[in-house]
Amino acid sequence: MPHLQDSWAVTNGILHGKLVAERVKAPIRQQTALLAEQGITLTLAVVRVGADPASEVYVRGKVRACAEVGILSRHHHLDATVTEAEIVALVEELNNDDSVDGILVQLPLPRGISESRIIAAVDPRKDVDGFHPLNLGQLFSGRSLLEPCTPAGCMLLLEAAGVPLSGKRAVVVGRSVIVGRPVAQMLVRADATVTMCHRFTEDLGACIAQADVVVVAAGVPGLIRGSWVKPGAAIIDVGINRLPTGKLTGDVEFEEAHARAGVITPVPGGVGPMTVAMLLWNTLVAAMLRRRLGMPRPAAQAWSV
Ligand code: NAD
Repeated sequence: MPHLQDSWAVTNGILHGKLVAERVKAPIRQQTALLAEQGITLTLAVVRVGADPASEVYVRGKVRACAEVGILSRHHHLDATVTEAEIVALVEELNNDDSVDGILVQLPLPRGISESRIIAAVDPRKDVDGFHPLNLGQLFSGRSLLEPCTPAGCMLLLEAAGVPLSGKRAVVVGRSVIVGRPVAQMLVRADATVTMCHRFTEDLGACIAQADVVVVAAGVPGLIRGSWVKPGAAIIDVGINRLPTGKLTGDVEFEEAHARAGVITPVPGGVGPMTVAMLLWNTLVAAMLRRRLGMPRPAAQAWSV
């Protein structure tokens, strides 16, 4: 039985992102309550453009999560016909609004709008997605104060499960700027030996078979065959794919991989809740730093005390 030992975060080899996310959220809730006593209400501004149905669901989830931890959210929904200049103007207005602590521009933006231009317009101090070139640059040269939510969530999941990383072989599948590249960087920072795979990788199976840790963010259901998984490996499945049946699934053949893995995240209930929890965390960090209140305690300490 290669499964990792059961713990608060892991049962029968399944790493429960929902439970880990709750542990991240609890101290955020405490902190916002303390700030509220001082008359400070944290505010996250969410900008959504157009009518992408998945974005609508994600934004609804983020708004609900803000309410759960005492963060005020402001939803700015713009029509798909809006111009790039109009979005930049809204972002600049939010940058200059002292009551706004964090700004999130929900991606993807409609065709014809430059996502990089919009992201670059966000004040890096309010960039709770961690995608601003300044924050990404800082991440790549060490550590950024505002790191991308999904990669940071993946790292906290590995930490919560007690997966050793130093000297281990990690394989990241997918090289997007929002998931694959930053998570690879964070794994390098944690002293893993990292291989990045993508759509042009030859013999993906051979790479996976050597991996002690796999983080997959490709958006291809069943891409990672269970039979490739090294016995005892840790598998973090970032993929979110909706099958024609309406069922949500990740990028990993779950049952087959679960039988071999030390630990694996489910979809749904794995990385998704962590992405939202880390957004709340980043909003708290952005607010405290901008308001010169110091840095909150690192999220991982929520379970190490
Ligand atoms: P993306 O489309 O920007 O990038 C996909 C990457 O996968 C590319 O680098 C591509 O080279 C690689 N890829 C595609 N097909 C491949 C193949 N056959 N073999 C190897 N590599 C392949 O995607 P993204 O924005 O990084 O998102 C990836 C997935 O993660 C999607 O399913 C997305 O919905 C999901 N996602 C989930 C969360 C979450 O919170 N759980 C957050 C972000 C993204």
